[in-house]
Amino acid sequence: MSWVATERFEARPAPAGLALVQELVNTHAVERDGLDLLTDRASAEEWLRGAAREWARSRGLDFPELSLLQADLEALRDLRAIVEEMLAVPAGDRPAGMAGTPVGVRQRAQVNLVSDDEGRVSMVPLGTGGGWLESAVWSEILLAQHAGEWSQLKLCREPGCRSAFYDTSRNGSGVWHNVRTCGNMANLRASRTRRKMRTPAHDSGSEPANPQGISPS
Ligand SMILES: [Zn+2]
Repeated sequence: MSWVATERFEARPAPAGLALVQELVNTHAVERDGLDLLTDRASAEEWLRGAAREWARSRGLDFPELSLLQADLEALRDLRAIVEEMLAVPAGDRPAGMAGTPVGVRQRAQVNLVSDDEGRVSMVPLGTGGGWLESAVWSEILLAQHAGEWSQLKLCREPGCRSAFYDTSRNGSGVWHNVRTCGNMANLRASRTRRKMRTPAHDSGSEPANPQGISPS
């Protein structure tokens, strides 16, 4: 098993459970690489079960038993849209560390806090379907904001892509989910634009009228 949605874009996965947040965003459709995994209940449920197993493995917790109701589907898509919106904010402008007194509660999710024999505390999401995913996603966002990892989860700059990737560049300057695909496309576009801008200069009259030197007959 693996993070199937993220893997199809060959994006660098976020560490541990934060990859679940990235995985949710990457269920979206990208013309070049794949369909929307949340189009119907069956495909969404299959994705959710696989992602939950992968998440549980990454956190050393038991696999949750999940099933999805038709009504959950809309909630999953809404949650994806909210996370996308949060990731569209430039990394430097995102919240990090402790939240202050909330001025308005936008989302609620429930978790159990459990500790092991050594006193290590884990957050265990509650719920059996869409609610479980909401709990897990918000838990991971909280942990990432406290660990300083939240600003490294980004959306690809390529307008037709917008896949989520984890930026491990030293100065946090990564903008493409994959430099070989989206990075190359952008470079090609840029060089084409440069060429186009140079072309009118050649037509400005400085070129010889008969560059091949062929005499008119
Ligand atoms: Zn991309």
